[in-house]
Amino acid sequence: MSTSLIAMGVAIFLVINLVIGLAALSLLFGTFETLFGKPKLTILRATQSGNFFAFGFKWNSSKEPVKINSIGLRLFNPFGNPTQVEVSKTFDAKTSSFATEVDMGPGFIELLGAQNFDFAVVQVVIQSTKEGIAWQFDMKGPKFRKLVSEASLSVDQFIKQKTLDADKGSKPPIDIPIRSFIADTVPGKGSQLAIPTNPAFAAQFAGTSGAPAAGASGAAPAPAAENFKIAKVWIEPGCIVCNACEDIYKDVFEVLADTCIIRPNAPLDDGLRVQEAAEACPVEVIKFTKAS
Ligand code: SF4
Repeated sequence: MSTSLIAMGVAIFLVINLVIGLAALSLLFGTFETLFGKPKLTILRATQSGNFFAFGFKWNSSKEPVKINSIGLRLFNPFGNPTQVEVSKTFDAKTSSFATEVDMGPGFIELLGAQNFDFAVVQVVIQSTKEGIAWQFDMKGPKFRKLVSEASLSVDQFIKQKTLDADKGSKPPIDIPIRSFIADTVPGKGSQLAIPTNPAFAAQFAGTSGAPAAGASGAAPAPAAENFKIAKVWIEPGCIVCNACEDIYKDVFEVLADTCIIRPNAPLDDGLRVQEAAEACPVEVIKFTKAS
């Protein structure tokens, strides 16, 4: 067998494997989408009695950008009376997941009170009448009645809960603590950090190792402090890469693309400068311990 035939055989084998692999991946992701990407209907507690029906609906609006504006409830009750009831209602179009409470009219009471309801099937249809897209949720009569009568969340509570869920991954609000190095009377400049790298305070630090001198002209008296050595300085998670620490003490702090680190062999003898950086850090992730 010639070398070219062998090479062709190997190539065909590889292509077949690639196709099978891609098909398997596509099947896998399709399955994931079916399992985890399906729109979700939640029946909520109506705050008004009688004909009112409340619900929440969640779908992937970036994948399916439709304007949802209608809900329908259909009862199929072959063993009871009436055998069929259908009610529907339109509302202001929603372009992303939402919750609402709507007046379904007297047919809703008729639907819930149908004879032999326990053997019926209820279909909830959420749709965009403009785009002709609909999602359908089928459930047995007893399940539908239970969901309606035992719903605990109102529309407002549901929206609040979803908002809280959505916010869980976000960063906590920044809490800026009182800074011992902040002077607030720099003429015409407002609050500033009284640090050696700030030109407004440079004169105060001349000949010092970082501690501002009291009573220098042009700034409020800053607390005189004795310098100290650091035993350990470190960065806790949460750095927002603002560069403040590196601007203050670049021999110790190095700001990377997504966090800040302590430089290897960073000098530990200028505790005041490290303290300045820690106090300037807007998210308070710079921690240090003093040498004893
Ligand atoms: S000051 Fe704080 S938040 Fe800013 S870069 Fe340094 S460690 Fe990060």
